[in-house]
Amino acid sequence: PPLWEGEQQFHAFLGYALLTAMAAACAALSLGAVAPYGRYADAKALGISDWGPKVPAQLAWCLQELPSLVVPLVCLVRPGWGPASATNGVLLLCFLAHYANRALVYPLRIRGGAPTPLYVMASAFTFTLVNGYLQAGALGGPWASAVPGDAAFGGGVLLFLAGALGNAYHDALLRALREPGETGYKVPTGGLFDYVSGANYLCEIIVEWAGFAIACRTPAAHIFAWCVIFNLAPRAVSHHAWYREKFGDAYPAQRRALVPFLF
Ligand code: NDP
Repeated sequence: PPLWEGEQQFHAFLGYALLTAMAAACAALSLGAVAPYGRYADAKALGISDWGPKVPAQLAWCLQELPSLVVPLVCLVRPGWGPASATNGVLLLCFLAHYANRALVYPLRIRGGAPTPLYVMASAFTFTLVNGYLQAGALGGPWASAVPGDAAFGGGVLLFLAGALGNAYHDALLRALREPGETGYKVPTGGLFDYVSGANYLCEIIVEWAGFAIACRTPAAHIFAWCVIFNLAPRAVSHHAWYREKFGDAYPAQRRALVPFLF
């Protein structure tokens, strides 16, 4: 058997382990728990004594997202590794571009972001570490097969690009709600925020990573798309309830949590 067969089995195992862990976290979040960062980082407001040490938002976002940029780059220079075809190369570039933005550009532009508890940062770091290896292995490991350059690839990449742009656009709408140095919350408006409270999440979940999975057709990409749903769908529901409670009748009544007109 080839030398990498053991690693291939480890890679497959890691994917299912990640999916199981994220599904369990989603179950907890659906039962009313919230990931305590951003507006939920203030433990006392939730009646909890403390979330432990905190890291400034900019530093936390950079450190916790960086592994998904660094790990694939390190993996791809290993002997026997590299994009299995030009299409695999395009998909790896999509993944790396997303994380270059999330780890290096997004943190610099945050306005007044709440500090992140260290343990939340550590969980996100573990996720991006494992997922960086998963996606790199699926598209560029010695066992990776070439992704066909067909309609699913083209359509999936277009969806990914639309989702990435939409996510960045809605993140920018949120950022514009605050002047530099400001920290409070306002009712978001514009774009898909007129329909859902989680417009930035909608673009990331339903368009960007679903498009990536459609294009890749690897178990790793499907696992990642499900993990993003497990992570962000409960957060969109929590944000929606939080807005309704905070702004009451001033919050648009027809707005839904995540899916326009439905949910
Ligand atoms: P949020 O929408 O909770 O917050 C984004 C930023 O906007 C924060 O700086 C927040 O400040 C600020 N903000 C949010 N709402 C308001 C408001 N009403 N008024 C003023 N400022 C506001 O997003 P997340 O922090 O959860 O996520 C950030 C990005 O990362 C998103 O694009 C998301 O899709 C992505 N993400 C991806 C994940 C994945 O698994 N792929 C996981 C988590 C996030 P503050 O910090 O003070 O609340």
